[in-house]
Amino acid sequence: MNTLYDTIVAIATPPLKSALGILRISGPRSFDIVSNFFSKNLIDIKEKTIHIGNITHEGELVDQVVLLQFVSPKSFTGENLIEIIFHGSPLVGQQLLSICIQYGARQAEPGEFTSRAFLNEKLDLIQAEAIHDLIDATTYEAKRLSTYSLLGKTSEKLTPLRKKIADLLALIEVNIDYPEYEDIEQVSRDKVLLDTQDIINFTNQLIVEGEKGRLIKEGIKVAIIGQPNVGKSSLLNALIDEEKAIVTEIAGTTRDVVEAELNLGGVVLKILDTAGLRKSDDIVESIGIQKSLKAIEKADLILHVIDATTMDETIEGVTLDRIQKPVLRVFNKVDLIKNRLEKGIYISAKDQNTQPLKDAIIQSLALQPSDYTTPSFYNTRQLSLLRSIREHILHAHQDADMFMTMDIVSSSLQLAYQEIVILLGLEGKVDLGTEIFSRFCVGK
Ligand code: GDP
Repeated sequence: MNTLYDTIVAIATPPLKSALGILRISGPRSFDIVSNFFSKNLIDIKEKTIHIGNITHEGELVDQVVLLQFVSPKSFTGENLIEIIFHGSPLVGQQLLSICIQYGARQAEPGEFTSRAFLNEKLDLIQAEAIHDLIDATTYEAKRLSTYSLLGKTSEKLTPLRKKIADLLALIEVNIDYPEYEDIEQVSRDKVLLDTQDIINFTNQLIVEGEKGRLIKEGIKVAIIGQPNVGKSSLLNALIDEEKAIVTEIAGTTRDVVEAELNLGGVVLKILDTAGLRKSDDIVESIGIQKSLKAIEKADLILHVIDATTMDETIEGVTLDRIQKPVLRVFNKVDLIKNRLEKGIYISAKDQNTQPLKDAIIQSLALQPSDYTTPSFYNTRQLSLLRSIREHILHAHQDADMFMTMDIVSSSLQLAYQEIVILLGLEGKVDLGTEIFSRFCVGK
């Protein structure tokens, strides 16, 4: 257990009036700091305990509190940790905080309790990230994915990958270093090709799951574009069931990008209603049009709204064929037409009839019910490391395919293994040599 740290303190609850508030203090001096002002001496307590008592400072009662005492290493941070549950007045919280600081604690930096838990190996990096994601989640589905990561279910998915790479590496290394041993399986080029292909397939699967998880966790940006007056603002309002964007018959009313969020089947759509695209001499409208073009660049999905009464699909300044992202053509004002000339998504924003569009969006996301309950590497850091692992294994595979020597193959496998260690945040804690050679009795 690392005891080099100082003792940190913070209020864990928002600074608002509430029934209760929580102060946390962690570090080697937490028990003796709190014993200065709590009605019981906590220094010699050896097991986790709950106490009810008074906080008194300079002869005055600060509050009557419930105090949870966790003894190192059995605490969230791995250090001696106390949580004080006080009556939820921001004044009490502030007073408690300043008393702790007065007795030698330091105000914690954001995330410092979790970072200590990580440094003291109570959590791996994926679990530590999950705490932030759990608090940040805006849908139950996103929250569920972060709880899987918090429980270690996501990290566990790396175990077979880590084992497969280490097994192959061990076999290659032992063949290189001890070619004279007869009881060791010979590593053939075919075995390397087969095993690396297997690892590539497994990594691909993790990446696909991660990308779906990312969709669920972060949602997607959807830009509504089209000519002026086709019903873009009406569509935004109908989707979120609120009068957020201004709707008028006057073309060019929307001059800035209006943003709104919608939870569609567990995926957050961040919808951007943009200024209608047309040639304009009006300086404000022109700025709005520039912003619309930027919104198109940022979006993951484009809704191209077309007036069903004219079926005119042209839009000034945008070549839709050149947009390298999914575009859904949405025919609006279906209430005004008798016959549908083309197949497609027909809606009436005015009548709040947007279900066909919602169905089409859900379909375009291509999520299966199982994607919502699969632990996955959903954040950018995790996904980019997985991609880099795949690259290294691909190299190893290609090198073996081109009859390169086994030490060249081995160096790519080692890089991949190192990235797994980084993914889990275990740099400096895992020795690859020990992991590999512990599998053999050679020279033990
Ligand atoms: P935008 O300029 O593309 O954002 O279009 P608006 O949402 O401001 O709508 C322009 C006009 O079309 C307004 O008078 C709306 O009431 C009308 N409108 C929008 N959607 C519909 C619809 O589905 N049916 C009908 N009949 N009128 C609509």
